Order: sequence, then structure tokens, then C-alpha cells
Amino acid sequence: MLSGDHMKTASDLNLPLVGVGLLYKSGYFSQQIDKEGRQTALYPENDFSLLPVELVKDGRGEPLDVQLDLPGRRLHVQVWLVRVGRARLYLMDTDTPRNTADDRRITARLYEADRDFRLRQEILLGMGGVRLLRKLGLRPAAYHMNEGHSAFLILERIRLLMQEEGLAFDEAAEIVRGSNLFTTHTPVDAGNERFALDRMEAYFMPYCQSIGLAWQDFIRMGRFEGTERNTFEMTVLALNYSYRANGVSALHGYVSRHMWQEGWKGVPTAEIPIGHVTNGVHLPSYAGPAMKPLLDGLLGEGWMELPPDAPQWDRLEGLPDTDLWAAKQAQKKALLEAVRASLPDFFKKYGIPYEKQKAMAARLTPESLVIGFARRFAPYKRATLLFADPDRLARLLDDADRPIIFIFAGKAHPADAQGIDMLQEVIRHMLDPRFFGKIFFIEDYNLAVSRTLVQGCDVWLNTPRRPYEACGTSGQKVPVNGGLNLSVSDGWWCEGYDGENGWTIGPVVTCEFLGAEQGDYDDAALLYALLEENVVPLYFDREAGDIPRNWLARMRRSLRTLTARFSSCRMVRDYLEGYYLPAARRDQELRADKDALARRLAAWKRDVTGRFNSLKMGEIRIEGLEKDELIGTRPMRVDVSITPGAMKPEELLVQLVAGPGNGQAFTDSPDVVELTRKDGEGSGPLIYACSYSPTRSGPHMYGVRVMPVTDGLASPLETRLVLWG
Ligand SMILES: *Cc1c(COP(=O)(O)O)cnc(C)c1O
Repeated sequence: MLSGDHMKTASDLNLPLVGVGLLYKSGYFSQQIDKEGRQTALYPENDFSLLPVELVKDGRGEPLDVQLDLPGRRLHVQVWLVRVGRARLYLMDTDTPRNTADDRRITARLYEADRDFRLRQEILLGMGGVRLLRKLGLRPAAYHMNEGHSAFLILERIRLLMQEEGLAFDEAAEIVRGSNLFTTHTPVDAGNERFALDRMEAYFMPYCQSIGLAWQDFIRMGRFEGTERNTFEMTVLALNYSYRANGVSALHGYVSRHMWQEGWKGVPTAEIPIGHVTNGVHLPSYAGPAMKPLLDGLLGEGWMELPPDAPQWDRLEGLPDTDLWAAKQAQKKALLEAVRASLPDFFKKYGIPYEKQKAMAARLTPESLVIGFARRFAPYKRATLLFADPDRLARLLDDADRPIIFIFAGKAHPADAQGIDMLQEVIRHMLDPRFFGKIFFIEDYNLAVSRTLVQGCDVWLNTPRRPYEACGTSGQKVPVNGGLNLSVSDGWWCEGYDGENGWTIGPVVTCEFLGAEQGDYDDAALLYALLEENVVPLYFDREAGDIPRNWLARMRRSLRTLTARFSSCRMVRDYLEGYYLPAARRDQELRADKDALARRLAAWKRDVTGRFNSLKMGEIRIEGLEKDELIGTRPMRVDVSITPGAMKPEELLVQLVAGPGNGQAFTDSPDVVELTRKDGEGSGPLIYACSYSPTRSGPHMYGVRVMPVTDGLASPLETRLVLWG
């Protein structure tokens, strides 16, 4: 979903972005729910001739044949082109008679559980993808690895550079690192792929032999220095060979810096080089049939590409309540009609008696407050949190003057027993007489279902266990459709919520704070309280006429403060400015003059570790402290003596790092001040000094560190060598 929005936006913005992926015979899966509420996964095969894809041909009119070597055989890959507006998406597929029956299954399904197939899928995506681009004559200025699944592209790029340009491994690696970007998409462990080393060996020993790389050095590519796990980690590979890396929301950036900090030992967490670009949604794909013309008229053509601070958004203040309400109600009716259309099947499947059927259908009126919950039934999303106290929920839904409907949709991963159980629990509640006609479930969640739901719902419920929702995008589709978010302070909502544009369930926390994990029961109690005391009363408050004026104020606020900020236009522009263009520039820098900088950096790194180990730092002297406390506002003076050993003075970056801390770690981003070398000391150790005044109050920690640097290094953290004093 996210990559699709990314591609569509690249087309809208006319960016030369090419997508590479796999074309699956059966896609994810189709969902059916049986009488007992158990999900069955069906895998109907796609007929590619009915999909908007075209087979890519070579110059002689034959299907383009991308080839990869697998142990003892050659894999043939055919390629399909999807035109996403002006942008191109290439999808690879191994289902051709030229492959073994087993290899033809590589692209059978999206979420392949078998590890060996999974590994072959990723070899195909990463290494096959690079070969495909090469065959098409495309020479990307930058490569964006979305999730670790594509990270084997690093290996193929290195091999090509070595074989075609005669570069050494580490020289090629410098170039590859300079133009690679990496986005990590989830803190959930299972989403961060790793492969057992013995399995890797069969596929990658030949690779190592072909470029003369020792197996031990290969293993280190997918493992952080000093760790000894028996796996090759795709996220680590990607982090090790990227110019820049990011998470997908401010909170997820913070969580990722903690999660992957063992790769940067001795570096304060706040400095770990993983930033964030918050995801966004493609507004033209989600803005509904009543809201879109209303906003076209008010904001003018092209409003979906406006940045968040454009003055046009002020015009929302002049939008009459009655128009906004009418548009919302029209879209809600369309949703209720879609639910109504699913009722005959539902009645038949569960054997609902006729009188009950009528009562149920009668509840589908736009006067109801409609609350939606549609997402994958991954356990951390807690689809059943709403039912933690069914009696309390029943009381809330029992008021005939305040009709409320919940609509659920979502698939559980077929191998996820817990997710399947949660789905069954929702179905059980739907059939419970207390909730009859108050809870609905739409089967086979997909883009069409999602669109209808986000366009029609008044409220979008989101109850993940913090901080596992890296971003979450379904809630971002709601504000432009006049819906309000009711969410835990996780993912994008942590930065979206401003106190008046929706509701936060439980504590409102900043994006730089993990906090204690909340208990499910506590979160459920807070959700009920919010519904009982805020959401429901506000919706049914009609004192100022027949429409809920105060609710509309919140809708307007949500529309105004969230739409542009969480659009994919903002997201893709962030990637362009902060990632794609810098990487393209870095690539030119490294490759100018026959790869001069890449060669020089590689040569420098070859012996810097050994030389740096010969450096000694003397005692740090501090002046201006009394009993470890600063006196008044006078800055403290810091100096340190360094015996450089085999390092040259110009290769040393000496810094004071100081900031609020708890004795173990910095509790906030520390200040970093460079110490300068005092001259005229003759021979002997080098003396470095600086002065420092804290920028914040409270207990502080400080230390002095040295890092090796040389001209043209992308960042002093790049060598991961740090010596603290
Ligand atoms: C938007 C969307 C998603 C992603 O939603 P989350 O909030 O990230 O769970 C998943 N599936 C479909 C069909 C969607 O439209």
C-alpha cells in the first residue's frame, strides 16, 4: 500500500523514480470467514493477462530474460511493466517453463513462510533487481531500499563495480554505500529479516568466490562488529551500506536508534544516524466522492499537492458547517450501503432469522456514529481491545437515542494463530445478542474496502501496543474525508495529535520517549472513558441545531492540521530533499576523477583501525567546577592531552559531549562541542581545549571523545571508531 502511494506520488511530482518488485501469482490471499468465525486463506491465481501489466520484451521482441545463478542451476526471470501514471514499476516473476518446478514457486505468494523460498525471493528482488535495471539500460543516481528485503542489491552492485571497473571490494563498497538509502519499516522483530548462516552458505559461497571475498568478511556485512549471532541480518546489512537511513515516523526514528544502537558502540543514542521520514498517503487515491469536489471548489486545483503551510488551507475556516456535514453524511451513506449489500450473505452464513434481519438492516442509518477499525490482525494492533470489558461496552451501545456502529475489517496472517483467534473473537462479539446490529465485519480487506471505510467512518479507531506501530497510514486517510482519529499515541499519531484534532487514548507522550508499556486492561478502560465522556457526547450534542457544531469544529481542525502534513506528497518531497538528492550528490563526489574519493577513503580505512588503536588519551582536566557543580553562569573549561601514536593531528576530531543524564546514559540529546588544539606546546602530547556552558539545567553527564576523520568522509561516525576519556 505504502509503496503504491510512493510510486503514484512520484508520478504526480514527475520524479524519475523507477520501482522494482515481484509479481506474485497469488498475491497475498483472499479471506473467507466460516460459520465459526475462523478465517480461511484462499490463494486464487492471478491471470496476468487480466492485470494492468505488460510483459517486457528485449530488442528482438522476445520476453526479456534476466538471469541469476542459483546453486547448480540458472534462474530465469521474466519482467512485467506497470505504468503508474508517468512512473514505471517493474515486477519480476519466475513462473516460466525454463525454471525448475520448485523455482517457479519463488513468486507464488507474498508472505512466504518457508525460509529457503524467502531467501530466494530476496535474492531475486535484490540481486535480480540490479541485473534488471542494468538490462534496461538504467543507471540509477540513488537506490532506495525499502525494508531490508531488498538489501542483497548491495552485493550485486559491489560485484558489478568490481568486475566492470576493476575496483577492489572496499572501493566498490564505498561507492555503493554513498548512493544507497535505507528505510526500516517496523520495530516488530519478525519484520526484520535474518537468515541462518548455514542456509546463506549454499547461496553465497559462490558469490564470495566470484569476487574473492573471505566468508568471514562476508558474514560481517550482515552483522554488527563484536556480535556473534549465527544469522545474517538484512536490516544490519542495509544499515552498514547506506548513506542515510530512516524510520517512518518521529517516534519510530527514536525507537530505531535504540533498537540498532549496538552498531554504534559508544555513541549516544540521540546521535545514531537513523533519522525519520513520516509516511503519508496519496490523497487522490483516498479523498471521497463528496469531499473531493467540495475541497476542489474551496482550495482550487492542485490542493492535494499543497505543502502544510500553504495559505490556501486558511480558507477551510470559511467552509460552511452545513456543506462539510452534508459531504461527510453522503460518504457515510455509501459506506452503510456497502455494508447493507453484504448482509444477505451474512444472514445466510450465520442463519439469522428474518425478524432479526430487518432489525439489523434498520440500524444502518447515517444518524449513527460510525466507528471503523480496519487493519491487519497483527496481535500488536489489538483488534479486540474494544471488547476487554464487554459489559461496559454493551452499556455504551445500549442507548437508542445515541446509535453507534462499529465496522471491522482485516486479515490475519495465515500463519499467525493469535491473529486468527482475535479475528474469531470479533466475529463472536458480532453475533452476541447484546451487540447484534452494532458490530459489523467486512470480509476480505483490500484497497477497495479500505477506501469505502476511510471515506465513510466518523471515527477511526487505532489501538496498537505502543511503540510497535511504526507509523500506520490508515488513520491518515481519514482527515481529508472528515473523519476523526481516536488512537493510542503511537506511530504518526504521536506527532499528529494537537489536543483538538482527534483524541489520544491514554497518555499523550512525546516522540522522544519510550515510557512504560501500558497494560491492555488499562488502555481499554481509558478507551471506554474517552468514548463515554468525550466522543459520544460530542457527536450527539445537537444543542446548536440539527448538526453537531462542536464535532464539526474538530473535523475542520483535523482536516486542516493533518491532511497535507501526512500526505505522500510531503513524504516524497522529504525523501527527495533529505535523501535522494544528497545521495545522488554523494555518488558524484565519490566517483569524480575515476572514483578518486572512493579509492582514497577505502585506502584510508584499511589501516585507520590499527593506527587509531595506538592513540592514547590522557586525563581530562576540568576547571570551573566546585564539588562537581558549576559555579554561577561561568562556563567550565575543559582540556585533555592526547598522544596521537600513529595518527596525524589533522586526523583527530576531539569533542566534548555533555548533556542531561542519569549517570548511565544521556536522557536528552547531548551538546557536542569541538575541542581545538592549543599550539606552541613543543613536543609531547597534543593539548586540546574548549569551554562549555550547559544549555539545560539539572544533573549532567559529560565525556571527551576522539574520532578519526579525513577529508571527504560522509560523517565522523562512519568508521564507528570512538575513544572516550
Ligand atoms: C492503508 C492501508 C493499510 C495500512 O494501514 P495501517 O494503518 O498501516 O494498518 C493496509 N491495508 C490497506 C488495504 C490499506 O488501504
